[in-house]
Amino acid sequence: MENVWKRYTEKDRVNIHELGERYKDFLSRAKTERECVSHFIREAEKKGYRNILDLMDSGYTLRPGDKLYANGMGKTVVFFHIGRRPLEEGMNMLCAHIDSPRMDIKQVPLYEDSDLAYLDTHYYGGIKKYQWVTIPLALHGVVAKKDGQVISVNIGEEEDDPVLYISDLLIHLSREQLEKKASLVIEGEQLDLLVGSIPLAEEEKDGVKANILNILKKKYQIEEEDFLSAEIEVVPAGKARDCGLDRSMIAAYGHDDRSCAYPSFEAMMDTPEVPDRTTCCLMVDKEEIGSVGATGMESRFFENALAEILAFTGRESDLALRRCLSRSRMLSTDVSAAYDPAFSRVFEKKNTAFFGKGLVINKYTGSGGKFRCNDANAEYLAKIRRIFDENDVAFQTSEVGKVDQGGAGTIAYFASLYGMDVVDCGLAVLSMHSPMEVISKADLYEARKGYIAFLKGA
Ligand code: MN
Ligand code: MN
Repeated sequence: MENVWKRYTEKDRVNIHELGERYKDFLSRAKTERECVSHFIREAEKKGYRNILDLMDSGYTLRPGDKLYANGMGKTVVFFHIGRRPLEEGMNMLCAHIDSPRMDIKQVPLYEDSDLAYLDTHYYGGIKKYQWVTIPLALHGVVAKKDGQVISVNIGEEEDDPVLYISDLLIHLSREQLEKKASLVIEGEQLDLLVGSIPLAEEEKDGVKANILNILKKKYQIEEEDFLSAEIEVVPAGKARDCGLDRSMIAAYGHDDRSCAYPSFEAMMDTPEVPDRTTCCLMVDKEEIGSVGATGMESRFFENALAEILAFTGRESDLALRRCLSRSRMLSTDVSAAYDPAFSRVFEKKNTAFFGKGLVINKYTGSGGKFRCNDANAEYLAKIRRIFDENDVAFQTSEVGKVDQGGAGTIAYFASLYGMDVVDCGLAVLSMHSPMEVISKADLYEARKGYIAFLKGA
């Protein structure tokens, strides 16, 4: 497989640049699942998408060309673009996840030690804890008040915003620390955010903490107890940047899985006014902790939304729902490991994804002897190959590393429970799950092309 950069025309390069700019802008604004859902809904509404909540029980009759969405608690969203063919024939679906590894503020987080105030965190998803110290961090999230008010929090992204920080031990005193296993160099309970150091003059005990509470109250109307009902995520501060002297790559937080969610969404918005088969784009939360919860892939949210859509056709039987699900085809648009020459030992080069070689198809993920994975059907893979080849989409196939080196899971396995065809198909990422991951702009471009071709042709 040749490096795709070699075959790009001047026009391709302009398009790649423009897509890269749009994606970086999105990444810099949408760093949490909630921010992604708000962003996607805002953009979809501009294109004529309507919330199914507004149509429910109104006797609405579904028509080909209708654009609808359902919002799941502000953290998961599904878009439908109704096609000419009956829904019972199934849909062409793209499904990505919009949560990323990070740290969450604990419910009782604030404390003071030696005139320094901290917010205690609990990490979310798989992280190498030592990577999250000594970098600028931002707070994104919501605080839900008892009176029903929900306050948005976003601190650390503006030029003149303060950032938060987790310390590491100075090298001069690290003899003991450097002998430790990497998993213990920084431990979970050491991931506490430094948030202040000025004591209130009139306080004798915990004056720094008291001062921070004052600031939270004055600036954000947040009381200490409000942390009990808050979801505040700690993420790397700052914008997505071009990477490399040739600007061929993008360095940013959250490529897993926004580098797939973003082109999936653009592809969904690009479908013809009246598609042949109904197209569907699902964005889920909680993938990084096992797809659990009401907003994760394991929940019935998507199925419920589809049942509502079927109700608009007047054929809302359980059988119609099951037929639609089992006859649907999905690309689970999730990232894969990019080959890293610095760590060549963990990769098996014939079955590895490389930057600049296009979309990555993972027939299976899992660990050990393919445990807990969706092993996609050969017939389905043949169909995907045909669609990509016919549309000049560069793709490669891959496994996540050598056999028995580790493993990974995606949402594909949950979608397959409906009896539908599904395969993992996304971008290759360097330094996955680190605070700053890297992707190739060419791969992003091929992903967008590939997802458009799939929605139209599957
Ligand atoms: Mn992922
Ligand atoms: Mn992941």
